[in-house]
Amino acid sequence: MTQEIDREKRDFMRASALAGGGLLLSGPVVLFAANGQPGTIRSRGYAAVDTSGKLVPWTFERRPVGDDDILIDIKYASICHSDIHQMRGHWGPQQYPQVPGHEIVGVVTAVGKNVTKFKVGDRAGVGCMVDSCLDCEHCEIDQEQYCPETTFTYGYPMASSPTGISQGGYSNNIVVRDHFAVHIPETISLQEAAPLLCAGITTYSPLMRADVGKGTKVGVAGIGGLGHMAIKLAVSRGAEVHAFTTSPSKVDDIRGFGVEHVTVVDDPKALAAHAGTLDYMISTIPVQYDVAAYASVVRPYGAFTQVGMPERFELTINSIALSIARVNFNVSLIGGMKETQEVVDYCASNGVLPEIQLIKAGQINDAWDKVVNKQARYRYVIDAATF
Ligand SMILES: [Zn+2]
Ligand SMILES: [Zn+2]
Repeated sequence: MTQEIDREKRDFMRASALAGGGLLLSGPVVLFAANGQPGTIRSRGYAAVDTSGKLVPWTFERRPVGDDDILIDIKYASICHSDIHQMRGHWGPQQYPQVPGHEIVGVVTAVGKNVTKFKVGDRAGVGCMVDSCLDCEHCEIDQEQYCPETTFTYGYPMASSPTGISQGGYSNNIVVRDHFAVHIPETISLQEAAPLLCAGITTYSPLMRADVGKGTKVGVAGIGGLGHMAIKLAVSRGAEVHAFTTSPSKVDDIRGFGVEHVTVVDDPKALAAHAGTLDYMISTIPVQYDVAAYASVVRPYGAFTQVGMPERFELTINSIALSIARVNFNVSLIGGMKETQEVVDYCASNGVLPEIQLIKAGQINDAWDKVVNKQARYRYVIDAATF
């Protein structure tokens, strides 16, 4: 079993060829002796130290600001279900201490000498990626998330990091290559912009690819952080949105987001009643569930996109049920940097704003429990001044 997990983890971390695959899976924390190097940046945050899912305050070093880097003074970081999955080891063994967080916003306080994209004082955001080769077929078409050398924002081998891995945004600053930061327009608050960096782009990218808009019937399954953004984006595009939730207590909220058709899935029959009626569905459900039953709500030859990532990244799909529905099933991973800027600009210009609850660093562990128990409404945003 462990070997299997290790193998999956290795496959998933293609970046390991560059930085040493064993690094994340074993070994001491400090391997690169960047600690104490002139110019390293002291950072204060909250880290996981084991698979318990309980975070503790931690002070650590980030790499010096390089020629292509910017230093961001983080103002807010929001909580994604992925943070919890990865820290708890649901996606494979982790190196600890590890700081989660890939919905990050703040203000630029330093820039490297090659940087022209940002200047000191700019509002900036960082999402799920912090580096890639910028040269391969995927990078060339602005799909850096599929680059073989992508470094994701936390827990990935990173030779330049004093801790040996990338460290995320539950902290008071971050050093990042300029290409992997986006501008945050003045027309949106920083705290409302934070969730767009993962929840926003992860739902926006497949919705745009499916060309949802006036005249399309769009289903959204799983109405949490990602799902509520999928709803708001699809509504803003003029689509007829159908929401599917297992939480009766969310129904009024969902109607408030502009959705007329809300189904509480308390029984498989609740889905069967809508079989073959929608053009497209996006599922943000981040746990094991009956995929084919949800996909069957889409009309034959329509499409179904999964974006939620369950434990071990595994979903069980009933093949006969999916074949009878004749629905095109796909899974999407975030979006590229160009598209991330696009979703931030789109939401800022069109007033498509996440529902947020502001918390202090000391409330993170409680907030994580609430996310797991489906009590979040709908994104917790951490005030970085409290780290
Ligand atoms: Zn996320
Ligand atoms: Zn590349």
